[in-house]
This record gives sequence, C-alpha cells and structure tokens, in this order.
Amino acid sequence: MIKKSHFLTFITVGVWLLPIDSSANENVVNVYSFRQAELITPLINEFTKQTAIKVNLVSGKADKLMQRLIDDGDNSFADVLLTVDVARLEKAKQLNLIKPINSALLHTNIPENLRDDENFWFGLSVRVRAIFYAKDKISPDQIPTYESLLNSRWQGKICSRKGNHMYNLSMLASFIYRYGTSWSENWVKKFSNNLAMRPNGGDREQLRKVARGECDVAIANSYYYGMLSASASQSDREVYQKVGIVLPKNNDIGSHINISGAALTSASKNKVNAIKFIEFLTTKKAQKIYANNNYEYPIHPDMEASKLLKSWGKLTADTGSIRQLTKYHPQAREMVKRYSW
Ligand code: FE
Repeated sequence: MIKKSHFLTFITVGVWLLPIDSSANENVVNVYSFRQAELITPLINEFTKQTAIKVNLVSGKADKLMQRLIDDGDNSFADVLLTVDVARLEKAKQLNLIKPINSALLHTNIPENLRDDENFWFGLSVRVRAIFYAKDKISPDQIPTYESLLNSRWQGKICSRKGNHMYNLSMLASFIYRYGTSWSENWVKKFSNNLAMRPNGGDREQLRKVARGECDVAIANSYYYGMLSASASQSDREVYQKVGIVLPKNNDIGSHINISGAALTSASKNKVNAIKFIEFLTTKKAQKIYANNNYEYPIHPDMEASKLLKSWGKLTADTGSIRQLTKYHPQAREMVKRYSW
C-alpha cells in the first residue's frame, strides 16, 4: 500500500538478532509485514517492553512476501502475517499459509464481522473507500453516495486509480454483494464513463489531481487523506486543505470499508508468542498507536476514532460485507475489464 523499494526491508528491533534464528527455544516472534516498517516499529517496541519477547520484522511488498511464504513452506521462519485488505488474508487462507487461533481475547477485542468465521484471520484496523471533492467547486451534499457519482454532471470530472486494483475490486465486490450484479454493472459502466482521464497513479495521486483542478471528484482510501494532512511536503499539506472528504452513505448500509489484519502462519515455530503478539495488537494501547499512526479507524469496539478522523464526519461502516467480499472478486474483475476501468 505504501511506496516501497523493490527489496525486502529487514529490521531487527531491540536486541541484535541477525540472521533470524528460527529456533523455538528463543523468546522471539518473527513477523512478516506487508505494511510500512515505520508503522509497526513503535508497536514492536511497546510489545517487547511488556513481554520481553523479541520481535523480528521483515517488511516488504505484499506479493513478494506472499510468494516467499509459499516458497519456504514448512521451513518458513515467519510466525505472524500482517497485511491489508481482506482479500489478501483470504488468499493466504486458501493457500494454507495461515492457521486458526483460538483466543477469547481476540473475540472480545474484534467485532465478529471483522474476523474470519473460522478464526484464520483477524482485523486490526478499518479504512473507508471514500469520496473526495474540490472544495472550491462543489459541495459535499452533491456527492453523498457512491451512486451519486453516476450523475452525468460528473462526466469527465472523476479521477480514480485502475479498477483492477484490489481496493477497487473489494469495493465493487461489496456492491455486488449488497446491490446485485445489474446494479453493480450499471455502476461500473457509468462511473467509467465519468472518468476525467485514463486511470493512472495510486490513491494519493488522485487527491493531488483534484487539488490541481484536473478533476472535481475522486475515490480513494481514507488514510491517504490523513497522511497528506501531516505530510512533510507542503504541497501535499495544501492538497489536504483544498480537498474535502465524504464518507459515503448508501441507504442504510453505509460506507464500504476494508481492514488491515493479522494471522498466524501455518509454519509458525513460535506459536505462543505469535498469538500473544496478535492479541497485543488488539489491546487499547496498541490500537491507539496502530490506528492513529496510519490514520485508520480502530477495530476495538470500545475505542473512538482520532480527533482528525472524527472531523471527517460520522462513519457508518458496512462491516457486514467484509467476510463476503472475496467470493465476488472474480465477478468484479470481469466487470472492470468489460468497461476498461
Ligand atoms: Fe494503501
């Protein structure tokens, strides 16, 4: 999700531990993360402080790390998998790369809809696929829902990354699940027709295009907007000022959301520590770091969103779709192809 180098980043936090020792006798846990290392490091430090368990973090591109898990099989030294998008967690499950965890704490700390019904994967944070708009041109009440983006007034005015990106496929999968095939097909057809240009660039780039006046409206994941607000680049902070966010309200269903999540690997040699680590990530203290550092919504039912996220409006999240998304991905992919989104 974040721009990374093509190489795997290898970070050992705490005590010197290179190369990774896969021995089960060590008080360690080995984490494969598809998320940026900066996001995870403060959590690892806190976990080690609390438990004296050393954490070895390997972070890299999702597809590369997934392939490495497949290639290494039972010899993999990974204990925990951290990734984004439920479709990836489901893929890991289908490929037998992860195994179930029985944990009462995980059941308490994570709402039922945001974890696997067979306990293979567990949500850690929530992100919204939101609508963004040029504040100087339009008002948020013109684009309250995903469906409102189909109005012909937006012809040539919408920016989006490619339709076959996982974030868009998961959103479309939620539409198919909630509204059916013909509703969703009509949505893709008209939405594609309203695009300002051939889709290119990631989510953040779409927000920059809105700020530059290249389009009036865009769809993107909510946390990218938060990142822009605190960017080291002044021009990106200006993008945040020029662009507004709408958390779409579709009937009573609410905004399409997705999760970041964790799972125990099938090859885990440090199972007890791995479960401790995943449980730790769902505690209030960890949730605050994990969600706030990446501008995401905490998964813990008793926790509120950060002040910044609250300023974006009240989130009504479609939590009920999460477990259903993956099975509609092939259909979503076909639709995207048909209309060259
Ligand atoms: Fe991302």
